[in-house]
Amino acid sequence: MTFAHHNSNEWDYLKQQLPQWLEQSREQCGSGKVASYIPELSKAPLEALGIHVIDSKGNLFTAGNSELAFTMQSISKVFTLLLALMDNGKDVVFDKVGMEPTGDSFNSMLKLELVQPGIPFNPLINAGAIAISSLIAGGSPAEKSERVLQFFRKLSFNDTLTYDQSVYRSEADSADLNRSMAYFLKDNGVLKGNVEEVLDVYFHHCSIQVTCADLGRMALVLAFDGTDPITGIHLIPRQYVQIAKTFMVTCGMYNASGEFAIEVGLPAKSGVAGGILTMVPGKYGIGIIGPALNPKGNSIAGVHLLETMSREMDWSLF
Ligand code: GLN
Repeated sequence: MTFAHHNSNEWDYLKQQLPQWLEQSREQCGSGKVASYIPELSKAPLEALGIHVIDSKGNLFTAGNSELAFTMQSISKVFTLLLALMDNGKDVVFDKVGMEPTGDSFNSMLKLELVQPGIPFNPLINAGAIAISSLIAGGSPAEKSERVLQFFRKLSFNDTLTYDQSVYRSEADSADLNRSMAYFLKDNGVLKGNVEEVLDVYFHHCSIQVTCADLGRMALVLAFDGTDPITGIHLIPRQYVQIAKTFMVTCGMYNASGEFAIEVGLPAKSGVAGGILTMVPGKYGIGIIGPALNPKGNSIAGVHLLETMSREMDWSLF
């Protein structure tokens, strides 16, 4: 029986069903793999799965291993895009990155050479997010990273957010592919100045450590078009949130975004540490962690859980 046939309010139904849906999805974990190309990420627990849901009044509930701390990785790209838009405006940003999905993996640089003028296809693939890092305002890499961190703290209403230094160092020491991509972007004229400094901003924002509660709160701000519904504080211009949410639908789950749009139908962004940030627009912010990944780099159990939730609650926007 789905919620549509159930005689209770949506929130209560969700709260009641979620622990059981989560345990069913957890069975997927064994078929996934924890990311290991950033060595430090391979220490994450394969069987973990947690979720945090928050509504516009601040009501919340959690299930599973929702207390687990993890790094944002690619989820951070949504918010650096928003900060770059706020710092520079739309024209400057879309001079450096495109608006189209690639159909390639998140770390592919194939189209940078194949398709002229050689700018990254969108801001959520690695090449695009590295280009976006170069657009964050600030006099030095440290100042840029500090502005990003402060912005993330504001959006999560969590002043204690900070970097996981071991993951930061682990990525900086092993990022040959991202590094080659960044130098390629410099040669194409997309990046200016010192490439290592741009990469340092990128590695820092990927290594910001969060829990599902932080992701849920950040998602809630997007779900309400840039104004936090709990405090009424206006944080991001609505037209930029619209851009970010559209990218989340078309590119947020890497080259599985089409399938995710069909099976779940919500704006979402995943990261290789196993996090997923998603929302039911106008209703809920949702944060998920499940470090076991499917071959495309999305949390295998997290995606399964969202498929169940969306189907049972009839959440698809489409
Ligand atoms: N920091 C990671 C990388 O550059 C982010 C990628 C991801 O989460 N997909 O590879």
